Amino acid sequence: MNAEIICVGTEIILGDILNTHSQFLSQELAALGLNVYYQTAVGDNDRRFTQILKTALERSDVVFLTGGLGPTTDDITKEVACELLGVPCVYDESVGEKIKEYFLRSGRQMTDNNLKQAMVPQGSVILENSWGTAPGFIIEKDGKTVVLLPGPPRELRPMFLERAKPYFQAKMEQPILSKSLRVFGIGESALEAQMEDLVRSSNPTVALYAKDGEVLIRVTAKASSEKVAEEAIDGMIEELYRRLGSHIYGINKDSLEQVLVELLREKKLTIATAESCTGGTLAGKITEISGSSEVFHMGIVTYANHIKHQELGVKEETLRRWGAVSEQTAVEMAKGLSQKSGADFNVSITGIAGPTGAVEGKPVGTVYIAVEHHGKVWCKRYQFARNRNERAYIRTLSCLNAMNMVRLTIQQPEETEKEYQNV
Ligand code: ATP
Ligand code: MG
Repeated sequence: MNAEIICVGTEIILGDILNTHSQFLSQELAALGLNVYYQTAVGDNDRRFTQILKTALERSDVVFLTGGLGPTTDDITKEVACELLGVPCVYDESVGEKIKEYFLRSGRQMTDNNLKQAMVPQGSVILENSWGTAPGFIIEKDGKTVVLLPGPPRELRPMFLERAKPYFQAKMEQPILSKSLRVFGIGESALEAQMEDLVRSSNPTVALYAKDGEVLIRVTAKASSEKVAEEAIDGMIEELYRRLGSHIYGINKDSLEQVLVELLREKKLTIATAESCTGGTLAGKITEISGSSEVFHMGIVTYANHIKHQELGVKEETLRRWGAVSEQTAVEMAKGLSQKSGADFNVSITGIAGPTGAVEGKPVGTVYIAVEHHGKVWCKRYQFARNRNERAYIRTLSCLNAMNMVRLTIQQPEETEKEYQNV
């Protein structure tokens, strides 16, 4: 079955909002085994929307429409889709009641046009909206399926996951299962070279998605039963571990910070951060994870040199002689932090995020990261980007690498032990 996505909304066309629905649905549909061949965005305009939907129905089995299900006159998706499909819209008592209830509960005033949302395409599957008012729909007509989902992401995502996805899962002839591996510290092209043969495999399939220093590998299998699919996936994952080893930091995990916090909690270890060029971003990332209060002691941003000295005891002599961006400073920051925090891991970051600040021998993107762990320190120099305008990228990579050093220390104690020095 092939599918396509049409996102309706003038805001998208104008660039006022980023079309995140296309990405979300494409990823989800791929995981379901529905091939997405086209993505379109169109404004709230009947004529152009009708045109696009008509084209979509000619070339795709399933069409996902997002946005424009609201109560106002510019919300046209349902009306136009029904018109084109020749499906009448009828008032649905139970949807109407739910909308009235919703307004009663939230204490807001309901207007007549809110009941426009209780008009449902005749014979459609109604996707109840527990996160807002406009329900979604699945309309089956002449061998085609049209799915309508509301625009707000906090309604669309749960509605897709909880209402629409099970519908398609039940429809697929063969169960499809996938698992994602998160890989860090190896570039996409190097990775691809190591897995050339695997990427060509057709069942399970292995797909790579790269983003900021990380690569997500999705392994997907189709089989006669879920159990068989899972066995095929696990076999492939074993092979991936053989090739990539400790570069893999998690299976079905969301992020490095999630894995790090889980590891620290599991081992009852604590962490603290002292940041210069990342300005507190590392502490921010760690504390985004629920449960981080068990492991995160403190974070300090020491941007100015005299604060590095005052707060962390970095020697003035060190700053003068080696500079704020140096191995010596990073190490002294981590050691000073350990005095203050008493945590098991004390991480410091100091670097040049650019676009200015480069000095002889230290171009933009030079970053030193030190991890103090039980009296010993592992310090590493990184060169993230030479391009002067990659400030955000340099900061992100600094945080990720800092977390990765701690992750490796916990997961690969033998491999990392030799990196730690008595200083
Ligand atoms: P409402 O009842 O809020 O009007 P709706 O179903 O009519 O919902 P829209 O009016 O099209 O949906 O969009 C509502 C909001 O949802 C937009 O202002 C925007 O913030 C968000 N949104 C819509 N489409 C997208 C998209 N493709 N990607 C990300 N966000 C979107
Ligand atoms: Mg709207």
